[in-house]
Amino acid sequence: MSVVIQYEGKLFRPPSEANSLILQATIGCSYNRCTFCAMYRDKRFRVRPLEELQGEIDWARAHLGRVDKVFLADGDALVAKHSFLAELLDRLKAAFPDLRRVSCYASPQSLQVRTVDEMRDLKERGLTLYYLGIESGHDGVLERLDKGVDAEEMIAVGRKAHEAGVKLSTMVLLGAGGRADSRVHAAESARVVNAIQPRFVSTLVMTPVEDTPLWEEDQRGEVDHLDPVELACELREFIAGLELDASVFRSNHASNYLALAGTLPKDKERLVSGLDEVLSHPERARFLPEWMRGL
Ligand code: SF4
Repeated sequence: MSVVIQYEGKLFRPPSEANSLILQATIGCSYNRCTFCAMYRDKRFRVRPLEELQGEIDWARAHLGRVDKVFLADGDALVAKHSFLAELLDRLKAAFPDLRRVSCYASPQSLQVRTVDEMRDLKERGLTLYYLGIESGHDGVLERLDKGVDAEEMIAVGRKAHEAGVKLSTMVLLGAGGRADSRVHAAESARVVNAIQPRFVSTLVMTPVEDTPLWEEDQRGEVDHLDPVELACELREFIAGLELDASVFRSNHASNYLALAGTLPKDKERLVSGLDEVLSHPERARFLPEWMRGL
């Protein structure tokens, strides 16, 4: 069998997909405008032909042994046509008998395009988890990030996925409000997350990356870099505002200074009091050193 999986350009996947087969169902991001995101700036969005993907599926079946998780890259595979995704999912199910989860990134724009019925049908075919970057629940911050939706639209798309029975893993960008909007960014982000009730919530720390509008803003001195204590304060406000029925919280992405984990609502008090302790005695806090941080 001559086909191997040759990924086009840089490949990105959530940390929790480290053991998944990654298939580039689409290339790039159809939106590609978020000011902080450098992931697909060099790629033009396109959907890959099913026959090309079939070659990679056949290769993976022959060479990888048991495949139980598949992640559909790149940035927002969910924006591809329902018929394409349905066919791809059927082929994955036929190829990998142990398959128990297919996931993908879902931009708010792709969630606006997909109907609840389409998402429900795709879920039945195996696409059971979306990763959604909420980034902020504050309209001003979302606008500065050029996320393309406001807070109410973000809630609406999150609820659509919820209604379809798809699990959501959501991300919030700490520091995205700068110093001036730190508190309101935390409080409004908690409000939006509460309205969506995702299964997973995580935080990343906003970090300017080269070749992005955010990088340019940073070069002009327009970006606040919150220090670890300021970020801990923002994280405390965010967690204190969360009212979740059953969610897993993580701040273990390498951009964070504090790696926290818990199940909400059970661990909320522990997480908040731990952050209060950090804020009372920052000199004792175990912040991740800069050299260990990354994106
Ligand atoms: S929607 Fe996601 S992948 Fe696309 S530009 Fe924004 S953050 Fe990047």
